[in-house]
Amino acid sequence: MRLTNRILIAEDEPRIASFLEKGLRASGFMTAVAKDGYEAVLMAQDEDFDLLILDIGLPGKDGWMVLEELRGQGEYLPIIILTARDEVRDKVAGLEGGADDYVTKPFRFEELLARIRVRLRDKRLPKQQEEMVLRAGNLALDLRTRQVWVGERLVKLSAREFTLAETFVRHPGQVMSREQLLSQVWGYDYDPGSNVVDVCVGYLRQKLGRDHIETVRGVGYRLRI
Ligand code: CA
Repeated sequence: MRLTNRILIAEDEPRIASFLEKGLRASGFMTAVAKDGYEAVLMAQDEDFDLLILDIGLPGKDGWMVLEELRGQGEYLPIIILTARDEVRDKVAGLEGGADDYVTKPFRFEELLARIRVRLRDKRLPKQQEEMVLRAGNLALDLRTRQVWVGERLVKLSAREFTLAETFVRHPGQVMSREQLLSQVWGYDYDPGSNVVDVCVGYLRQKLGRDHIETVRGVGYRLRI
């Protein structure tokens, strides 16, 4: 059995493809890139991959056609779709069309990685889900259902707020600078000068309760534990 998982990245934007390749290789995966839909289908058929990351906006055949073709041939490779933010209806269609999961662009690498790990784990060890709930203090985050509890209270967070909460919970007690939070939560697609971090922390405080996230003046924020 091959120990290293091989991931096929079907993505035509070089910036995103190389962002994915770098991140996945650093996380111990082997990668290959298909630059259009034709290549994606051929490579998925001919080579031995463990998972396909499939951009919807591909030249040649778009991601939907690739998905349909592969599933139509009985190809059971796990597939995670990358879609633009405004394609909500498409996501539902994607899951019905045989995709295993989706990630919305712009995405944070850690979020995609978590989803990849769930898919690869599902394939091998279907019952193992113990790492999928993160806890810090009285906060609990379920990474699969994206639900958050403060003690017994279930709190509704937006996707971005969830990712921000996850970043804090993964670094309890640690001061996180605005730059760190931007790169972890907003990924490659952020404007370093914007105040999105402060705004999102504000929303998170309203929802989780004021005491959880502390401002460290001139530096950033910290999750109290
Ligand atoms: Ca594209």
